[in-house]
Amino acid sequence: AKQSGRNQAHFFTATMQEHANQRMTLEQDLRHALSRDQLEVHYQPIIAGHSRRVQGVEALLRWRHPERGLIPPDQFIPLAEETGLIGEIGRWVLQTACAQLAEWRNQGHALYLSVNISERQRELSLDARQVEQVLQQHELTPGDLMLEITEGLLLQDSEETLRWLQGFKTLGVSLAIDDFGTGYSSLSYLKRFPVDTLKIDREFINDLDSDRYAQSLVKAIISMAASLDLRLVAEGVETEQQCQMLLDQQCELMQGFLFCRPLPAEALSDWLEQESE
Ligand code: C2E
Ligand code: CA
Ligand code: CA
Ligand code: CA
Repeated sequence: AKQSGRNQAHFFTATMQEHANQRMTLEQDLRHALSRDQLEVHYQPIIAGHSRRVQGVEALLRWRHPERGLIPPDQFIPLAEETGLIGEIGRWVLQTACAQLAEWRNQGHALYLSVNISERQRELSLDARQVEQVLQQHELTPGDLMLEITEGLLLQDSEETLRWLQGFKTLGVSLAIDDFGTGYSSLSYLKRFPVDTLKIDREFINDLDSDRYAQSLVKAIISMAASLDLRLVAEGVETEQQCQMLLDQQCELMQGFLFCRPLPAEALSDWLEQESE
């Protein structure tokens, strides 16, 4: 047993070393990803369930790595946050997505834009003034933009966070809580923070077909949102049955593979053209 224990320890160390090396390489690559034009924003429509008309789009970041191919955000955003690179990257996402929205607007598509922001971007100088400038630059109004934050940010419950979010609210952009329901269920922050939209996590939507518990939970979230006057978006809608259940509960806005996957700007342009016919 002693022998195998030692081997295991050795193995573990080697793996950790490898992991650390991989991380360092990835970090170096990420530092150059922007200047080398490797980042892309993809867009996923947000749909009104009854009419099936598109209401908005969510901007979702991708990294087209020369050797590794397309890297999903979950695999590099944590690193971007730890290194602070998310400051620059986040500004680029906002710029790029606003420019794209302006283009779609000019083509006659009435859409809003939703952009994910990380809590670290507060210290990295993303503020209401900067957002306002980007909007003005593209002749957009604050009402055209929604910012999505995760529950984690609100749980810190600091004065800085509150002031940061109030800045956006005062400007007039919408604020959504992303992945709602997956964090701690301390709901007091819904009153304290100037949030106007909840995005129900796709984990719950996914289980809607089969799981009575998920059904009750989604029901509870929907009725809470209604009584607090919060808008709702259901994420990860993949089946007609899920869509129908949400409509039955008066949850109108939806997003998911049932309607459209996240697509590069050009492909989504084609999709929008088709939809508007
Ligand atoms: P999220 O904000 O919760 O985004 C929704 C994720 O669900 C996206 O994954 C999307 O592709 C996926 N999705 C949409 N519909 C369906 C569906 O019907 N079924 C399933 N199984 N999945 C669906 P993605 O694009 O890989 O993004 C992962 C996460 O990365 C995002 O989760 C968000 O937290 C983060 N992220 C993406 N872009 C940015 C960004 O620009 N900045 C920051 N800070 N985070 C970002
Ligand atoms: Ca999101
Ligand atoms: Ca989400
Ligand atoms: Ca998520």
